[in-house]
Amino acid sequence: MALLVQKFGGTSVADPDRIREVADHVARCRRRGDSIVLVVSAMGKETDELLRLADAVARTKPGREMDMLITGGERKACALMAMALHDRGVPAASFTGSQAGFRTDTAHMNAKILEITPGRIRDALDEGIVPVVGGSQGVSTANDVTFFGRGGSDTTAVALAHVLGADACELYTDVSGVFTTDPRLVPEARRMDLISFDELLEMTATGCPKPAMRSVELARNYGVKLHVRSAFTWEPGTWVTEEGPMEQAIVSAVTHDTSEAKMTVAGVPDRPGVAARLFRALADADVNVDMIVQNVSTHGVTDISFTVPHEQLEVAVATSESLADEIGAEAITPDHDIARVSLIGAGMQTNPGVAATMFETLSAQGINIEMISTSAIRISCVVREDDAERAVAALHEAFELHKAPEERSKV
Ligand code: ADP
Ligand code: ASP
Ligand code: MG
Repeated sequence: MALLVQKFGGTSVADPDRIREVADHVARCRRRGDSIVLVVSAMGKETDELLRLADAVARTKPGREMDMLITGGERKACALMAMALHDRGVPAASFTGSQAGFRTDTAHMNAKILEITPGRIRDALDEGIVPVVGGSQGVSTANDVTFFGRGGSDTTAVALAHVLGADACELYTDVSGVFTTDPRLVPEARRMDLISFDELLEMTATGCPKPAMRSVELARNYGVKLHVRSAFTWEPGTWVTEEGPMEQAIVSAVTHDTSEAKMTVAGVPDRPGVAARLFRALADADVNVDMIVQNVSTHGVTDISFTVPHEQLEVAVATSESLADEIGAEAITPDHDIARVSLIGAGMQTNPGVAATMFETLSAQGINIEMISTSAIRISCVVREDDAERAVAALHEAFELHKAPEERSKV
């Protein structure tokens, strides 16, 4: 008999049939003797629709009202889910984030959890009731409803699994686990049985949407066992653990990310203090800088390129332009049409040649590499956005990721 936190994403509870199927699954788990805590996202694309509605109604969108609006999606889903469970003779009760004991800071649209007091959830479990908790929400220290941000329901589930001491946190979604690349892009992508937190964190930091990065960090910090699996086939999925598989694959996955833009500050003098001045100003303007590349200087001048989220590019350009005279920059060039393609693999630490094979593969496709960055277990290349999907497919094939790790040839 296990205590399981089961979280269902938007597609998994998109319509009445889906809600009934999830309720059937919960009833089956209960008959097997497990205790279940449910966490649900808003149905289907409802969060996007609520955001669109807000855009249509007003230009000023106070965070407090936005959070009240968006969390309504999860609140509706958890009430419907509790009703479907009742229908099957499973006692259930819905809870908002506040009722479930989630206390947060006051950062609307991106609230951080300060404390969880899950007394009502524990009481429900003691009484044999299935608690159904609205994901991605809590109540702030100012007693206002707060939203954790996009993908926050994964965080709700992991946090609850930790405070309740659950045996596992199951994240149910529309694919059967974590794949070697996005299966929507490359149909030959393989589901991994096991992946380490380190590799999964690199994947989520470079574009893999599942599970939300914040929830993976939380699970690693608190040692919560994560199981990413299908809400459609119910087959076993991917387990996320501290160690990962015994025999590390050289390359485990390919990811891509189109959420960032590139900026180049060209012709700056190569002397101490220039980068410091530029990046301090960007930080003060709350610009979230990611990859940074500085060229070797020729004749005492150099170029600095970096990536920022699309929506921060305008601020980044304005900030850099306001400094151009002071730091002696000749040109500032923004570029929205880029993508970052990354290879992730714990085994690349001990296997030379991964970078060479990556660059050869891109070159054979005629794809130009504009920036490169690495970590111990990742290599990322910035390419034209139009080339990204072709790059992902070619790399997936070159590293034979469609095969079981033990059947791949060495690169
Ligand atoms: P949910 O709404 O269930 O929380 P998301 O829609 O945010 O889940 O993410 C699931 C989607 O992530 C899948 O449909 C899949 O297409 C996409 N995806 C991208 N890369 C991967 C990957 N490497 N492994 C699994 N899914 C991936
Ligand atoms: N419904 C929210 C979103 O779409 C929260 C979540 O599903 O995690 O981002
Ligand atoms: Mg989703």
